[in-house]
Amino acid sequence: MDQLFLKSVPILELIEKAGFEAYFVGGSVRDYILGRPINDVDIATSATPEEIKRIFPKTADIGIEHGTVLIITEAGTYEITTFRTESSYSDFRRPDSVQFVRSLTEDLQRRDFTMNAMAMDKSGNIIDPFNGKHDLVEKRIITVGNPHERFHEDALRMMRALRFVSQLGFELDQDTFVSLKENAQIINEIAVERILVEFEKLMAGSNNKRAISLLLESGLYQYLPHFSKEKDHLGNLLKLPLNQLKAAEIWSVIMVHTSDQEIEAALRAWKLPLKTIRNVQRIIQLVKKDPSFENSAFDVFQAGQILAVQAAKVRAALTGGDVMDAEENAHQHYNKLIIKQMSDLAVTGTDLLNWNQEKPGPWVKESLEMILKAVLDDVLINDKEEIKRWLEKCNLS
Ligand code: ATP
Ligand code: MG
Repeated sequence: MDQLFLKSVPILELIEKAGFEAYFVGGSVRDYILGRPINDVDIATSATPEEIKRIFPKTADIGIEHGTVLIITEAGTYEITTFRTESSYSDFRRPDSVQFVRSLTEDLQRRDFTMNAMAMDKSGNIIDPFNGKHDLVEKRIITVGNPHERFHEDALRMMRALRFVSQLGFELDQDTFVSLKENAQIINEIAVERILVEFEKLMAGSNNKRAISLLLESGLYQYLPHFSKEKDHLGNLLKLPLNQLKAAEIWSVIMVHTSDQEIEAALRAWKLPLKTIRNVQRIIQLVKKDPSFENSAFDVFQAGQILAVQAAKVRAALTGGDVMDAEENAHQHYNKLIIKQMSDLAVTGTDLLNWNQEKPGPWVKESLEMILKAVLDDVLINDKEEIKRWLEKCNLS
């Protein structure tokens, strides 16, 4: 068993000693069987939240209405969720009520895909009533039960299906895909924030191109913010080295053909943080510069290292260049800058005012920028006396 599970076995034992059942469930069991790294373990139990709170002295009610209690132990913190079923989803997203049950199988049955509907006991035995292990071997994503019903209960499952395609390199089962296609538009019922989480995981997955193909093929893309008009641009993504790009860079590639104003509106519709929106806008502005911003030490200086590297990567991706080389070059380019920040300049605005008996005004900033550009272009030495002499010469000519 994985270290993370072994460390958590005493938690299961404590719950069992109190007379209840407890298992590892969900993504960690799936990833363990697949031999993928495990980040956190989820525990499901027949004990009610109140019963769990009697077993563990330190707890926090993080989602007690859904049956989840956070326990804080020396071995770490764990989310423990009471076995539950969910009933009558009238709004395609949240169950109208959850009922706690004492049966593990009933709990597993409410989960989205067979591969996510397995449990493991403290000895490492897998409980797999829906043949999830078989589907894992076949690399197949298939809903637990009727896909139409399962997507109608919670339409986010359609996005989850595609992000698992991307993360795991699996395919959708045929019926699951057909149903996803038929039901695509009910994704509209889901809060954009929840869709964004799944979409960014999809983009970060190593099989993201396959997932994007399915997003297009199923028509699901049309119901995602702003994407209804972007079929061609999304299709173009399939030709690009997406795996070498990070989230903001991928958003830039998607949005590069969109006007600056529209980018803002689109990314706000996606509920991206304003900081990310600005980052994407700046990357795109740099990428669109002609001649390339990389030819100008001043542009690279103004962008700063992080942004300059992002823009270089995006530009390489869009123009068929090598993204890794572009990244490396952009770092070198930045490191070679003669100065990295304004405070590295050997003169300040005050110096200029002292030298030139003129009133403060926009000329100070303009002169500093002129000096900065000359220093960055290596035609002027960054030395106070040199700069003073250079200015005098400029003023004479
Ligand atoms: P990850 O590795 O990304 O965390 P995960 O499978 O653990 O993947 P979570 O969102 O953490 O995904 O959910 C944990 C488990 O809860 C899932 O494995 C699945 O059994 C169940 N689950 C999560 N979301 C849903 C959903 N929308 N509908 C049904 N079951 C779900
Ligand atoms: Mg998880």
